[in-house]
Amino acid sequence: MQLKCSHCHKSFLPTEIKDHRGKGLKMHIACPHCQAWLARHMGYTLAKLLAFYGGIIALICSFVMDDTSQVTTL
Ligand SMILES: [Zn+2]
Repeated sequence: MQLKCSHCHKSFLPTEIKDHRGKGLKMHIACPHCQAWLARHMGYTLAKLLAFYGGIIALICSFVMDDTSQVTTL
C-alpha cells in the first residue's frame, strides 16, 4: 500500500517513513521526501467515517425522539 504526501504529492511506502509522532488517530508521519508532517491516512479516514456516522445517528435519534414526544403529547 503506497501513501501519498499531500504536501509534495510524491508517493512513498510505509517502510520509508523514518519519523512519526503522536498515537492513534492523532498520529502524524513525516514524509521521506519533504519531511512535512502528515496525518496518517487510515486514521484520518476513520475519524471522518466516525464523524459522518455519528452525525447520522444523532439525526436519527433526534428524529425518533421528536416522533415519540409527538406521540406522547397526542
Ligand atoms: Zn512530501
